[in-house]
Amino acid sequence: MNNLIADIDIIPGEEAQACDFKTTVDEHTGKTRKLYIESYGCAMNFADSEVVAAIMKEGGFDTTSDFYQADVIFLNTCSIREKAEQTVRKRLTDFQRAKKSKPEMTIGVLGCMAERLKEKFLEEEKIVDIVVGPDAYRDLPNLLSIAEEGQKAVNTFLSREETYADISPVRLNSNGVTAFVSIMRGCDNMCSFCVVPFTRGRERSRDPYSIVEEAKDLFSKGYKEVTLLGQNVDSYKWSPEENNKARLNRKEEDVTTVVNFANLLEMVALVDPSLRVRFSTSHPKDITDDVLYTMKKYDNICKYIHLPAQSGNSRVLEMMNRTYDREWYLERVSKIREILGEECGISSDMITGFCSETEEEHQDTLSLMDIVKFDFSYMFFYSERPGTLAAKKYPDDISLEVKKRRLSEVIKKQSASSLERNKLDLGKEQIMLVEGPSKKSEDDFKGRNSANKVVIVPAGNYSKGDYLTVKIIDCTPATLFGEVLEINPKN
Ligand code: SAM
Ligand code: SF4
Repeated sequence: MNNLIADIDIIPGEEAQACDFKTTVDEHTGKTRKLYIESYGCAMNFADSEVVAAIMKEGGFDTTSDFYQADVIFLNTCSIREKAEQTVRKRLTDFQRAKKSKPEMTIGVLGCMAERLKEKFLEEEKIVDIVVGPDAYRDLPNLLSIAEEGQKAVNTFLSREETYADISPVRLNSNGVTAFVSIMRGCDNMCSFCVVPFTRGRERSRDPYSIVEEAKDLFSKGYKEVTLLGQNVDSYKWSPEENNKARLNRKEEDVTTVVNFANLLEMVALVDPSLRVRFSTSHPKDITDDVLYTMKKYDNICKYIHLPAQSGNSRVLEMMNRTYDREWYLERVSKIREILGEECGISSDMITGFCSETEEEHQDTLSLMDIVKFDFSYMFFYSERPGTLAAKKYPDDISLEVKKRRLSEVIKKQSASSLERNKLDLGKEQIMLVEGPSKKSEDDFKGRNSANKVVIVPAGNYSKGDYLTVKIIDCTPATLFGEVLEINPKN
């Protein structure tokens, strides 16, 4: 297996992508200066870049897709695995030529890598002018003006309150149909392998009314699907005390109740029956039956749960500090099947070769995958991250060769399960939401069914944003192919 596999996310889509990133598009609203943002890593980071773009717009910037044209280049970075950080460093060398031809250009590093390395980043990468952590984006205009005066600037302050609730994100690279909505920030879980609690700070939930307003605004602009984002959405909990009410000027009666994730899901589902609602990520220790019943109650809440298992072995899960064991995980899956049925999509994240993992324990991961039959998984081999509990407590003692071999076995298992699960859809009628033309052929449209599976249909007299009733006629492990029966009356 080659090196590339280390960072291949098996995307629930038409293709697997290596270390994917998103850039800004050309925008011409008459602003005088140009901003180019490249975003790496998870959906939370992509959502954050949209907040950054909104702050920069206020500061007089339109976005550009060409970094040579930019006055400011931002790299919104990921630290989750070593490979992600290497990619960012390599990318910085590509910006050197642009900076040479335009020395007044400012280069900023944002996000998790900025938070992890702080001032050290400026020492290590001379091309970088500003370093900004995920909770300090409001300070960007100030940091930029410091950099424009020729000084380096850093703000990596982690907040206990910041949720950017009052900022209306500027949608970047949008298909105009689906959008991410951030509902919380940070994580309090301390999984031993994970750097996120250190780079994104303490968990805090965003004001639910601002979330509903954002969903309503998106719907009024033609969006048909929102994905509510958080590292652990099931621990969403908003209470008036936790929040900075003043900033949002809520009416007294709006801020008296505690809102949990099931309540929030319902509030967003009620925005409109033709606005689909998704969410990610669910934590096996926290997902409640209440959430499952709320999903069942509303047709427009998609029947799909991303429930990362990480491992199928209880000893390894304990060392990972996941706070559930194999039996607990399987019980949660049974509950999902009992309440939402076989058709509910379930996906996972898996890590192979975690510290001291034996061959038998690896087999437990494969057997868990056999029992659950995930629709798809994001699969990684363990990458030790400095400062994490695992890095402090456990030797990273599984060789790269073994980690990669186990990963290839996990990928093979997943591919077989994905195909098996997709075959169950053959001959069925399903509703898909059209997201736009397929990347592979102009003659086809691409969309997703409720279970988050990509469905490809021949192009026809319908357009993106339409709901279609389709019959599934063929499949691969990653894709369903359908024939269109009708434009769904839900439109
Ligand atoms: N909050 C989510 C959860 O609890 O499942 C996931 C967040 S993390 C950004 C995404 C995935 O990256 C994790 O689920 C895990 O599988 C993987 N990951 C995190 N740290 C890792 C590490 N040190 N090595 C390999 N994979 C890692
Ligand atoms: Fe990382 Fe665990 Fe938090 Fe997910 S729940 S972000 S894996 S610490």
